[in-house]
Amino acid sequence: MAYPHSEISSSNIASTDLKPIVIARNVEKWYGNNFHVLKGVSLTVNRGEVVVLMGPSGSGKSTFIRTLNGLEPYQKGSIEIDGTKISHNLKNIEIVRREVGMVFQQFNLFPHLTVLKNVTLAPIHLRGMTKSKAEEMAMQLLERVGIDHQANKYPGQLSGGQQQRVAIARALAMKPKVMLFDEPTSALDPEMVQEVLQVMRSLANSGMTMVCVTHEVGFAREVADRVIFLADGYLIEDTTPSEFFNNPKEERTKKFLSQIL
Ligand code: ADP
Ligand code: MG
Repeated sequence: MAYPHSEISSSNIASTDLKPIVIARNVEKWYGNNFHVLKGVSLTVNRGEVVVLMGPSGSGKSTFIRTLNGLEPYQKGSIEIDGTKISHNLKNIEIVRREVGMVFQQFNLFPHLTVLKNVTLAPIHLRGMTKSKAEEMAMQLLERVGIDHQANKYPGQLSGGQQQRVAIARALAMKPKVMLFDEPTSALDPEMVQEVLQVMRSLANSGMTMVCVTHEVGFAREVADRVIFLADGYLIEDTTPSEFFNNPKEERTKKFLSQIL
């Protein structure tokens, strides 16, 4: 995908073209010997698609999304990111991590580095970009998420919403093929949730392939192409947002929706 560095486009150019970027097949994972956390989860995400992953607390959402960039090993099944298999092969894991951007609930910025350095670190060290090129790109990304005027501040000097927007810019700086979000607004004060969702919305509109764990129903309804529902380590539904919210098939889904809607 040609990566747009300009202002985030408000027109929806996200056309999914059935080129799979993420292919997870029958992924099974145990924590230790006994705790079976993922029980044969399969998911294909095509280029430009936005998939929202929902499910009760403890259902395995974070575990699953972390397997998609090699942060969690799995024992059975297979995962491919744009044709590269995530295996125990460390080289492959390095390749995949470069291609997969991740945004966490707790921002995970480097507290001792300025905003600008947080964004330029990985492109300089992992992509071999020169400092000046990296800074130019970082400033464009920071402008895109509305933080360019705070580039020389430290994370601790920013609000939670601002820090999360920096975390998104930092992930984008690696020009990832897919962005993973694990409850990116759950740690934010309510008044900061929308500013982060707005950045995610714009990113989706620009054509980014995204997998988002979130309980934000409005975002899922408006932005998601598909909603995936995970419960007790099983993938229970994989459907459109309107089917998911208006016409859920499974009892487990109905119960979950009655608790969040
Ligand atoms: P979710 O994100 O849907 O809330 P998680 O993937 O975080 O679920 O967790 C799924 C289950 O796995 C939970 O029961 C959790 O306690 C357990 N779990 C998560 N991480 C670990 C770990 N490192 N070791 C053992 N159990 C874990
Ligand atoms: Mg979680």
